[in-house]
Amino acid sequence: MRENIKADAENAAMSKLSHVTNLVPVCIIGSGPAGLMAATYGARGGKHTVVIEGNKPGGLLMDTTDVENWPGETMIKGPEIISKLKSQAEKHGVVCISGAVSSIDTNSWPYRITLDNETVLHAMTIIIATGASPRRLGIPGEDTYWGSGVTSCAVCDAPFYKNEDVVVVGGGDSAIEEAIQLSGFARSITILVRKDTMRAAPTMQARLKQYPKISIQYNVEPKKIVGTVETITGIELYNGTTKETSIFPTSGVFLAIGHIPNSGFVKDIIKTDAEGYIIVNHPHQQTSVAGIFAAGDIADKIYRQAGTSSGHGIQAGLDAVRYLDDIGFSDQVAQSVSAQLYRPGAQMPHQASDLISITTLEELEALINGNPDRIILLDFWTETCSSCKQIMCILKELSKENDSPLIVSIDADEAFDLVEKFMITRAPTLIVLKHGIVAEKSGFLDRSELQLMLKKHK
Ligand code: NDP
Repeated sequence: MRENIKADAENAAMSKLSHVTNLVPVCIIGSGPAGLMAATYGARGGKHTVVIEGNKPGGLLMDTTDVENWPGETMIKGPEIISKLKSQAEKHGVVCISGAVSSIDTNSWPYRITLDNETVLHAMTIIIATGASPRRLGIPGEDTYWGSGVTSCAVCDAPFYKNEDVVVVGGGDSAIEEAIQLSGFARSITILVRKDTMRAAPTMQARLKQYPKISIQYNVEPKKIVGTVETITGIELYNGTTKETSIFPTSGVFLAIGHIPNSGFVKDIIKTDAEGYIIVNHPHQQTSVAGIFAAGDIADKIYRQAGTSSGHGIQAGLDAVRYLDDIGFSDQVAQSVSAQLYRPGAQMPHQASDLISITTLEELEALINGNPDRIILLDFWTETCSSCKQIMCILKELSKENDSPLIVSIDADEAFDLVEKFMITRAPTLIVLKHGIVAEKSGFLDRSELQLMLKKHK
């Protein structure tokens, strides 16, 4: 009797697949260690698996240089971990696609996922692995100088502050790590702590004694970032002890004030805690919605390690495979819907995605003369810069859109005259040309920030 009921339920679930297109048995949102390991386990479990890479492909590890605690490696670069995990997933048949999710509709099943390029996927299971993003201060000047004086990534940007005086905002372990990272480059580093104590672990605080360039100011709250048109000159601080406000001179503000889970796009459909972390049903990765799982920093505010994230990704991948098996998605059923599966290479016409590359002023002039009314975006990058690689992936995708500007890739280590002409001092730097320079930004910009920058100048 019970077996009959189970068989009926399975048939009912599978009958919902009959006319669905762009079907994805395991759909993973996010491409950090959690997402990529979940993908490998989904594909090895025999289920067609798609990874939507998100606004920041590879996630926070792409901003990390040396990693000493990745399993089995005494030292490895963050981007190399991601590259290996991605190759491993793809070797098992995982399809990775560029793009971000705009919405998920769980009113019917398979769940409807809409991407920012309006592609609609129908997911039988979803694994959310969108991680957490660095928190921002939300004070005047922060947006204006973001990427050109204000940043949350010392690992990426410290070399640009050689012999300069910089500040790190925050009192946690990250603030100490950022300060130590900066000490190899900057002349002085002042950690700005809003309370009279640091939250960082005592062992971390003790490490600071070895770095005479680093000092700490307590009871100071950032109020405003000030500067000229091009560069910041200081940060306005309210001193809670003296009750006075003053400008602290600095040429770089590094934020280390915690992270915010990237769960906004599912907050109305999936249970989160007060801070926005997705609640999972330990020891499984199941969320409050059947068939939707979460893994990595989005569901973990305690450990937040690449290793633990990948472990949770493995669990989520196994959970998704088991869920599909339980609802009757057997190999036979999978075979019967094989033509309905989302396989972007097979369904979309091939579009050239390689950007135009130039190295000389003459080449740029020829491009401008040949496209007098078109917006031109110059992307200055270097081989060793991980943010540059992320931006390039996003630009390649944007270049396929109908109204895309002409996107021009420039290797800053090769294109000496272009670097000199545009006074490029750091990579990545993006310059928008429309009868002259109309915008310029340095440092990492995610997909939405890039789109906004281009939209402004259409
Ligand atoms: P935390 O949440 O631990 O610390 C954030 C810090 O930023 C706090 O000192 C907080 O102040 C301060 N802050 C928050 N908002 C503001 C604001 N608007 N203005 C000024 N200051 C602000 O974040 P972390 O990223 O440092 O650490 C997160 C987790 O990762 C922790 O568990 C940490 O232990 C771990 N970690 C471990 C490392 C290691 O072991 N090597 C390295 C880095 C992180 P307040 O204290 O007043 O709230």
